Amino acid sequence: MKSEELLQGYREMEALLEGHFVLRSGKHSARYLQSALFLSEPAWAARAGEALAALLEPERPDLVLSPATGGLIIGHETARALGLRSYFAERTNDRFELRRGFALRRGMRVAVVEDIITTGGSVRLVLETIARAGAECVAVGCLIDRSEGARFPVPFHSIATLSLPAYDEGSCPLCAAGKPIDAPGSRGLSAR
Ligand code: ZN
Repeated sequence: MKSEELLQGYREMEALLEGHFVLRSGKHSARYLQSALFLSEPAWAARAGEALAALLEPERPDLVLSPATGGLIIGHETARALGLRSYFAERTNDRFELRRGFALRRGMRVAVVEDIITTGGSVRLVLETIARAGAECVAVGCLIDRSEGARFPVPFHSIATLSLPAYDEGSCPLCAAGKPIDAPGSRGLSAR
């Protein structure tokens, strides 16, 4: 699966919309991205997991670890394609912790899988979790890198990169052009 096929899948699932949106942050954007919608179709999740597995396999990981909740489904599908187990880490205050009996062995080679990388903040906290356990992160992988250049101290692979500029309401060019606000989901339903 190449970048364009992934983005086409997002569009098909109405997980990537073009218009004028108010993001959860309150900022305005011409694009709306929602990986949970894309991953709600298991066939797409499986194909994306296979693509990510192909990118990560050369780093010879022996476990996939994902930050919950965004990385959960794609982490699991990537692990399935690699023939590995999939753990997830959960945010507690300012760190990610392994709970539910998940434990990393010292020296274990861990691939971190996330759906979207925006700032890379969650992934960096998961890297700290891995280091605290004495394990080694060998690669970071995600579906879409929208970070505009995030770097990690290990190889970083993404299927697609996407620019999603966001604006404060007062400086939004779409508002200035008088474009009405779109509600994600409503257009897709009415278009059917
Ligand atoms: Zn606006």
